Amino acid sequence: MNLKDVEALALELMDRHGLIADGWNFEFFTYPNSCAGRAEWRHNDIYGDNPTVEKCLGLNSDHMTINDEPEVREVILHEITHALLPHTATINNAPKNHGYEFKQLAKRLGATGLSCCPPNFKRAKNNS
Ligand SMILES: [Zn+2]
Repeated sequence: MNLKDVEALALELMDRHGLIADGWNFEFFTYPNSCAGRAEWRHNDIYGDNPTVEKCLGLNSDHMTINDEPEVREVILHEITHALLPHTATINNAPKNHGYEFKQLAKRLGATGLSCCPPNFKRAKNNS
């Protein structure tokens, strides 16, 4: 999928499930061997005068460009599920949780509820 279409799909789904209204941003990242997507709460200036929480849903562009719409959609909905269930998402690289509650909500949003990438997902090779 080309990245313009990936971003448009991500923003559409994020909007549909209330993330845009809740202040979430979207970004691409590129770490060839890493995960396909992430939902992050970035705590900035936590000991300062102006602590803020930046909420960001990210997709790995290396993987997105070589996958088709159904796989990309699955990754986006997977990360949206984490965003809606903060205790199941990565916080400072804590282990992710894909238990019963995660699976139920993921399926309701239209994802598989799988803890890993969908069966047909292609992973980008690290060329560096
Ligand atoms: Zn996950």
